Amino acid sequence: MFWIDGHCDVLYKMWKSGGNLSFYAPDSSLDVTFCSAQRSRLLMQVFAIWVPKEVPRHHAWDVALRQVDLFYERIVDDSARTFVITESSHLDQLREGKLGAFLLLEGVDALQGELTYLRTLYRLGVRQVGLTWNHANEAADGIEEPRGGGLTRFGQQLMKEMARLGMIVDVSHLSVRGFWDVMEYTDVPVVASHSNCYAVCPHPRNLGDDQIRALIERGGLIGITFVPKFVHLQEKEARWDHLFRHIDHICHLGGAGSIAFGSDFDGTEEKIPDLAHADDFAHFAEKLMTRYPKEWVRKWTGENWLTFYRTYLRK
Ligand SMILES: [Zn+2]
Repeated sequence: MFWIDGHCDVLYKMWKSGGNLSFYAPDSSLDVTFCSAQRSRLLMQVFAIWVPKEVPRHHAWDVALRQVDLFYERIVDDSARTFVITESSHLDQLREGKLGAFLLLEGVDALQGELTYLRTLYRLGVRQVGLTWNHANEAADGIEEPRGGGLTRFGQQLMKEMARLGMIVDVSHLSVRGFWDVMEYTDVPVVASHSNCYAVCPHPRNLGDDQIRALIERGGLIGITFVPKFVHLQEKEARWDHLFRHIDHICHLGGAGSIAFGSDFDGTEEKIPDLAHADDFAHFAEKLMTRYPKEWVRKWTGENWLTFYRTYLRK
C-alpha cells in the first residue's frame, strides 16, 4: 500500500523560515520530509505555493516565484530522489525510494489578474490551481468573503486558459457560488484537494452534500484533510477515528471512488494526535484497514489520486 498526499504547505513553511528548513535532514522540523515520505511509502506529494495575505499585493508574484525556486533548489534534487511530475507519463516513475513532486498554486492572488503569469507558472511546472484562499481575489471570492461572489470575468478567462493548457482546478477554499460557477460553466477537471464534509463537521470550509455529489458525478476527487477544525466541531477533541465519519458520509453519497487524502501538513499548527506528520500515514492506513476492505483503503491512500492524475495530466 502506498500513499499520495494531495496537499501540503512545505514550500510556504520553507519560504517563511527564510529557506532554513531542510526537506532532506533527518531531524527536520517539517511535517513532510523525504525521510518521512520513505518510511510511510508516500510516493507522491502535492506541494502548494501559497502566499499569505500579509504579503503586500505587489510582492505576491515575487513570493510565489521564491516558493517555486525553493521547490527546484531544495526539494527536487540532482540525484533524482525527488522528481517533478508535470505529465501523465511521469507517474510511471513513481516507486519506493523516490518521491514524485507536483506543484499546485493555492489562490491566484499572485497572478494579479494576468494570464501571462498563469502561463509562466505553467511553464515552471504548475499543473493545478486553487482559485482562492479564504478571501476574494481577481478570480473569485473565497469561502470567508461575506459577499460570496462567484467567478469574475477574469476568473472565467482564467478557467478558459486553464482548460486550454490542460490544468486542473482545485475548489478547496472557494465560495459556494464560485464552486457552482466552476461546475456549471467550465469543463476543466476538478478536485477539492483538502476539504471535508459539512454534514459531519459544519465548518464553512467543508463541502455540502450537493457539492460532494457534483464532484462525484464530475469524476473529481475529495482530499479528506486532517486539520482538526475541519474534522470535528470540538476541534481539540478531534481524533483520527472522526475521519471515518467523513469517509462513511462520502461513501453513503455514493463516492467511495472519489475519496483521497490531502493532509494539509505544514499548513497548520493544530494537529490530530497520531496524525501530525507524514510518518503517521503508515499507521493511519493500518487503522483504515481495521474498518474498511483493503482494496478500498488502497484506492483512498493513493490509487484514486494516481488514476485521476493519469487521466487528466497531458502526456
Ligand atoms: Zn488551504
